[in-house]
Amino acid sequence: MEITIVSDVNYYLFTPMLPQVASGLLHPSNITIPVRYFCKKAKFLQASIEAIDLEQQLVTIQRSFDNKVRTLEYDYLVIALGGQTNYFGNDNIEKHSFTMMSISDAIAVKNHLIVMLEHAAQTGNHELQRTLLTFVVVGAGFAGVETISEINQFLKSSISKSYPSINPKNVNVILISSKDRILPEINEKLAKKASKIIERDGIIIMKNTRAEDADEEHVVLNNGGKLSCATLIWTGGTKMTKVISELKCEHGVNQRIVVDESLMMRNKENVFVLGDCALIKDQSTNSFYPSTAQHVIREGKVVAKNLSLLFNNKRELTKFSFHSLGIMALIGNRVGIATIAGHNISGLAAWLIWRAYYVSKIPTFGKKLNVAVDWFTDSILARDVTHVGVIKKKEIHAIHINKNVPSIKEQLLSNM
Ligand SMILES: Cc1cc2nc3c(=O)[nH]c(=O)nc-3n(C[C@H](O)[C@H](O)[C@H](O)COP(=O)(O)OP(=O)(O)OC[C@H]3O[C@@H](n4cnc5c(N)ncnc54)[C@H](O)[C@@H]3O)c2cc1C
Repeated sequence: MEITIVSDVNYYLFTPMLPQVASGLLHPSNITIPVRYFCKKAKFLQASIEAIDLEQQLVTIQRSFDNKVRTLEYDYLVIALGGQTNYFGNDNIEKHSFTMMSISDAIAVKNHLIVMLEHAAQTGNHELQRTLLTFVVVGAGFAGVETISEINQFLKSSISKSYPSINPKNVNVILISSKDRILPEINEKLAKKASKIIERDGIIIMKNTRAEDADEEHVVLNNGGKLSCATLIWTGGTKMTKVISELKCEHGVNQRIVVDESLMMRNKENVFVLGDCALIKDQSTNSFYPSTAQHVIREGKVVAKNLSLLFNNKRELTKFSFHSLGIMALIGNRVGIATIAGHNISGLAAWLIWRAYYVSKIPTFGKKLNVAVDWFTDSILARDVTHVGVIKKKEIHAIHINKNVPSIKEQLLSNM
């Protein structure tokens, strides 16, 4: 048996802590774990999957450094390509906003926040300072709410400790929700409480509002309003990548791939699909399982078990069934919210549960330790506001292999 893993990044990303990287609380490498640490017996290829041919059983991949395309044959295929940000076709919003899906998104936001503070610290013009210090997050699901509250905490602590020339009254932190509430993933009572907590913290929530357009320093709203802001972060939804939406198979809601209870693609006995790109029906409720990491981890175990059953010629496969015990989010300085086994919890208790649970879930002892150290350091020291500027990138796809070039050893010897 030979296993090949293909991914366009060479690490596993622990997304629940992504907003904490954006606010500079955690170092990016503390929430990214090299794939090679986990899968020592598998072959790993860092490359982009360009297409999947289900008929010929081929996967076309392209490696990034020289754009070389090759095809991989498979007997069994597991698809777990996740999703990508959905801008609903709005090119201006895509061009002028940040998002919160990848580690580079979080690093970009962190650097941008610091640049905005440095610019604002140099101007006495209130209008300009207000535009530089207006931070808008569109999308009030978990990612949006956690991102805005992290940004809010970062701004509060950094301005008071490091930017005395900034007038805190010019800071506006705005959360835009298209619905009449925030956090549609949790019950209404807890969501109302969360709204109160984050509003008390100074965040403005604009409900029943949609962002319709944007430019470098504005966001245009559906109610005719236009906000002057130099920072727009879009967490307004996800969609499938082209590889998934163009796959010749049955698609369901949001172009996700329809699978059966054993996570097998319909009419394809050698293809399994899991994670955010799979549409899995919960037979007990007749609804679809949500796109969360909690589910994906369990789906992964079912797929592995089913592959092993197939190799052993067993036709009776394991069915996926999982009901989440709870859901939680951090929404302020030492404040969280959680629903655990049907009970609503908020405040310090939820914050402590969040931290204890997620630090136990992040893979490898080293990363757990690094995260704990970052959290401890943050509780006693000011947040780091170093702006790491443009990094020089060396393009290497232009390297041509010349067979007549002497080896490095020969070159060194001839120079002696
Ligand atoms: C900010 C944020 C916070 C979250 N917080 C929580 C939380 O607290 N709890 C929770 O349960 N869930 C949370 N989630 C949701 C959770 O992260 C996702 O449900 C989960 O990551 C989905 O896993 P996946 O394997 O399907 O996709 P992903 O984790 O997206 O992995 C897909 C992988 O495929 C790679 N890839 C994609 N296309 C290609 C291609 N063409 N070629 C090669 N490689 C490709 C990607 O780079 C990525 O590495 C959060 C998500 C975000 C964005």
